[in-house]
Amino acid sequence: MKIAIYPGSFDPVTSGHLNIIQRAANIFDKLIVCVMINPGKHPMFTRRERVELIRRVTAGIPNVEVDSSTELLAEYARRRGGCVIVKGLRAGSDFENEFQMALINHKINPDLDTMFLTAESQYMYLSSSTVKELGSYGVDLSDFLPSDIIPDFQERIEKRKNSKEEYENERP
Ligand code: ADP
Repeated sequence: MKIAIYPGSFDPVTSGHLNIIQRAANIFDKLIVCVMINPGKHPMFTRRERVELIRRVTAGIPNVEVDSSTELLAEYARRRGGCVIVKGLRAGSDFENEFQMALINHKINPDLDTMFLTAESQYMYLSSSTVKELGSYGVDLSDFLPSDIIPDFQERIEKRKNSKEEYENERP
């Protein structure tokens, strides 16, 4: 059985991520979507919430499992029996970093390869951080987020806005 792992922050899962999940699930027997920790990012949703949101939008794809891990990706893949890491490749910006990570992961775990799926043109410039920025200005997000999670996202944006205002009002 060919098991692939699709790792990322997914904060939150976007339509671009979902497109990669659907395509990878068509290629492999099983796809494990794994929410990983990125120490450089301050997430909007907790790890558990991100897992729940991905589970909700992938509920109709039977060979997708959603998990989370704080392990090194190459070790996680070894433990789960994954032979391929799936990555989405957007316009130029992703390449350098992803190429470096693919080489390192292969060195740590020589049984592991990385496969890149090119982003669909309509999602080429879409990232979770763009969605968060657009969301804070009240832009319609239906082209960027799976419809099932838009209410959760909007609720979180409002909560954040209110706590920021409170903080700014309290400053001397
Ligand atoms: P981001 O916060 O930039 O969206 P993630 O760490 O959540 O990044 O992304 C996980 C993986 O999904 C990465 O391989 C990334 O290149 C890929 N990805 C992110 N957004 C898209 C998109 N719009 N289309 C295709 N792949 C994407």
